[in-house]
Amino acid sequence: MSPTVAIVGGGYGGAAVAKALQDEADVVLIDPRDAFVNAAGALRALTRPDWAGNMFFPFDRLLTRGRVLRDRAVSVDPTGVALASGGRVAADYLVLATGSDYPHPGKPAAVTVREARDDFLRTHKELRGAERVLILGAGPVGLELAGEIKEVWPEKRVTVVDPAEELLPGFGAELVADLRRQLDGLGVELRLGAGLREAPGTEPCRAGEFTVTTTTGEEIGADIWFRAHGESVNSGYLADGRLVTRTENGRVPVTERLNVRGHERVYAVGDLTDVAEAKMAGFAMRHAEVVAENIGAQLRGERPTAEYRPLPHPVVLLPLGTRGGVGQLPSPEGPVTATAEMVAEYKGADLFTARFTEQFGPTAA
Ligand SMILES: Cc1cc2nc3c(=O)[nH]c(=O)nc-3n(C[C@H](O)[C@H](O)[C@H](O)COP(=O)(O)OP(=O)(O)OC[C@H]3O[C@@H](n4cnc5c(N)ncnc54)[C@H](O)[C@@H]3O)c2cc1C
Repeated sequence: MSPTVAIVGGGYGGAAVAKALQDEADVVLIDPRDAFVNAAGALRALTRPDWAGNMFFPFDRLLTRGRVLRDRAVSVDPTGVALASGGRVAADYLVLATGSDYPHPGKPAAVTVREARDDFLRTHKELRGAERVLILGAGPVGLELAGEIKEVWPEKRVTVVDPAEELLPGFGAELVADLRRQLDGLGVELRLGAGLREAPGTEPCRAGEFTVTTTTGEEIGADIWFRAHGESVNSGYLADGRLVTRTENGRVPVTERLNVRGHERVYAVGDLTDVAEAKMAGFAMRHAEVVAENIGAQLRGERPTAEYRPLPHPVVLLPLGTRGGVGQLPSPEGPVTATAEMVAEYKGADLFTARFTEQFGPTAA
């Protein structure tokens, strides 16, 4: 009998580990969802609900050999996973990959493709009739959302508010200036260095007129608002401390080989980890390669030696609709600025649908 590798969470990191190890071990992938979610597609799924199916890759087509269990981990110890259903998966190797949640529409809260698509459609209908849109948060998610809205409804007034003084801290002045120029061209209004004195009087993602006052004293009226900040780590199932003590902000401490500290056969990948870098899908997938290599070595009776080293500079691919945007990519010589055409080609045109179709099978569209 082959050793069992239990993977908790089938996002970018977990799905990639499962796929990589399915021929070498008995892989069990545990996730309450019925599909891998490509969060990068979420904002377009909101503005173009007919496109939304492209961001989901059903789990029943992901693995050719392993098993996918539609369940939720409620506790993990070094020998296995306790499930919300009451069951248990005993494992020789464990990979924790439960990532993070993000407020709607950034990541779907619903666990089935059907319900998640219904949620996008409901919010789309609320947004469609709104003339003025307020977005709280000018990070990549808030700005991408502004770009997607402007591409479908150029006439809508879109305002993005953020207490930070500048866009994309850590990136070069030229990239930031280009981003500001493109946002200006789209007519997206930025209010930086400004918080809100009070929360909007309506629920996020719901149509309804309201006025808010910024900390700089400006009144902004809008017909709908979105929260584009407030990611939360999914690590509640580790709170009992049977496996590890989480860091102060709920992340899992890992070694350079991505072992959960203190455990040679337990690994963690992606947003869940305390690796000192921005939390990104691209990095979760690089973590997955390192972990698959290390478990692969252990399965063959060899010593695991693959190590993960964060990039020494920040990277970003920030499309503004299907044609615009800014980017900075890694290269052996250091960071390279991506033109709007490159951003569109690498991400904006299809939001990685083709790449994930190749890796994870057909979409739910
Ligand atoms: C709108 C948006 C756009 C983005 N665009 C980009 C981009 O272009 N490029 C980029 O690099 N990053 C992007 N990101 C960031 C990226 O989505 C995250 O870094 C990425 O999701 C992290 O992947 P992960 O594998 O750690 O976990 P996740 O993708 O968060 O997946 C975690 C999985 O674990 C499951 N899970 C949770 N709890 C449990 C449990 N208790 N038991 C079992 N399963 C569980 C969940 O259902 C989920 O399927 C974007 C984020 C957002 C919100």
